[in-house]
This record gives sequence, C-alpha cells and structure tokens, in this order.
Amino acid sequence: MPSITVVGSVNRDLVLSVEGLPHPGETVLARHFAEGAGGKGANQAVAAARLGSRVRLVARVGADAVGLLAALRAEGVDVTAVRTDERHPTGLAAVVVDGAGENTIVVNAGANAALAVEDLPERLVRSLGEVVLVQNEIAPELVDLAVLRAREQGGTVVFNPAPARPVDPRVLAAVDVLVPNLGELASLLGAARPATLNEARDLLEHAALPCRAVVVTLGADGAFLREAHGAGVAHVPAPRVDAVDTVGAGDTFCGALADALGRGAALPAAVERAVRAASHAVTGLGAQSSMPYAAQLDAPSL
Ligand code: ADP
Repeated sequence: MPSITVVGSVNRDLVLSVEGLPHPGETVLARHFAEGAGGKGANQAVAAARLGSRVRLVARVGADAVGLLAALRAEGVDVTAVRTDERHPTGLAAVVVDGAGENTIVVNAGANAALAVEDLPERLVRSLGEVVLVQNEIAPELVDLAVLRAREQGGTVVFNPAPARPVDPRVLAAVDVLVPNLGELASLLGAARPATLNEARDLLEHAALPCRAVVVTLGADGAFLREAHGAGVAHVPAPRVDAVDTVGAGDTFCGALADALGRGAALPAAVERAVRAASHAVTGLGAQSSMPYAAQLDAPSL
C-alpha cells in the first residue's frame, strides 16, 4: 500500500445548486443544498485514500471541525497531523453550481492561512520516493517549505499550483510533477489563456518550467503530459461522460495521480489513471462524494 503525505487545506463546503448562476445584484433560489468536507488538501487526500493509498494529511482546522475530521477519518485519512487552531474558524467554501455544471466559488481561508512552520512534520518523507502532494490553499512559505523539505528527504513531489499565484523558480526546480489546469499554467507563465488545444500544446511545449514533468489538466479534453523540457507533449484524452458537476475534478485528478505514482506507475500510465478517475468524478454532485473507489475505476464500463 503506497504512503502519501498531503500538505494542504481543509474546508467546509456549502454547495448550492441553482438553475442559473446569479448576476451581480441578483438573488436566486437554490434547488438543492448540501454541506460537506472540502478544501483541496482534504479532497486530494480522500481521492488517493479511496484508490487504496495510505494517506496522511497535514493541515489546520478550527475548533468547529470535529465532524469534518470524523468524515476524513471515516475515509481512512490519517488526521493525526491536523492541528486545531483555537483562534480561526475552519476554512469555508461557498460553491454555487448551475444546471450545466458551471460553478463559482468563494473561499474564506480561515485556519488554512494559519498553517505554520511548526505544523510541518520534521520527517515529511518516511520512505524514499514517498509522494508528497501540495497545493496553493496554504501560505506561500508553507508551500515552499513543504516542497523543499520533501525534495531534500528524497520524496516524489507533486505540486498542484491552485489557486494560481507566482511560484519561486527554486521551488519549481524541486518539483517532480507540476499539475496546473490550463488557466493556472497560463498564469504561471504570465501568458494569455490559450484558446485552442493546439495553442495550449504550444504554450506547454515551450514553457520554461524547471520541474521534471508537467501535467496540464484540460477539462473534458483530458490532460497533456510533458516529461522533460523539449521532449514533446503527449495528449491523454478523457472518456466522454455526462458532466454533472466539475467541482473537485482537479483534486480527484491530483489524488489519483499521487496514488498511481506511489504504486510505482510510470507517468504516462499515472496520467491515464488520473484522467479516468477525474472524469468519473464529474458524473456526480459534490467534490468528495463523487470520487471513485479503485473497484469502480477497474470496472470495464469506464
Ligand atoms: P480543474 O477542476 O482543476 O479546473 P479540469 O477542469 O482541467 O481541472 O479537470 C480535471 C480533470 O477532470 C480532467 O483532466 C478530466 O479528466 C476531468 N474532467 C473535467 N471535466 C470533464 C468533462 N466535462 N468530461 C470528462 N472529464 C472531465
């Protein structure tokens, strides 16, 4: 069973389904409401755990997160490295999803922004090659420290630079697999968002990113993989599915990628597995509730 450490966020997700997203100044009625565990860190941890990895989550929550932690434990995620912060509430995400699966999200970072240097385990990597998975919903210093420490200790560093913000090139150089979506890739490079797949391929092919490999998620188009600068770009298409809700698609992708890499899969195979897992997740509502279990992915129907 592969071991993965996720350093990231935990949020309480309030998910409102609406007919159409409200315009500024408009009030609309929700058709459905659900509350659940979210946050990129927790989501990616659950995605990997459902596929069979042993996952440890490093995070900070508020004193109001008892139920969320119980839910994470029930998913098999080790939450012993999740600290409770007495001064800040748990992070909160207000998610509004329309009938076409389009969404808007407002996040209050809460305790996630208070994750501190002393919260990071001294031994981040417990066995050589162990995957450490990091996203951008915690303070930049913590991202930098987690990535550099994981690299120094011989881990496999997977970094999902979401939401987009500038990243120190020294940190990028310590990343094994960078996993942005198209918008995040463009933002990292200071480029305009590509309008077509060909433009996206071009942007990735020539991007001066010092990490070992880059995997760009492309929504319904699947993902691009660039294994080394100048080595060309491979396209992994997504299966055609009825997309109901794409919230958490990128998180499912990252968790599944980490799970596959932890099992020793080569990157192309790991990306294929991640595309299948994420495409499965968009067929159901909610970030975590629609994440697949290993048996569902192995079934021949998808
Ligand atoms: P993010 O949610 O971070 O923006 P993407 O939208 O690029 O990420 O989606 C991540 C992955 O989810 C894709 O690589 C793909 O596997 C899957 N996915 C997303 N939207 C769809 C869709 N409409 N149909 C099939 N798969 C999808």
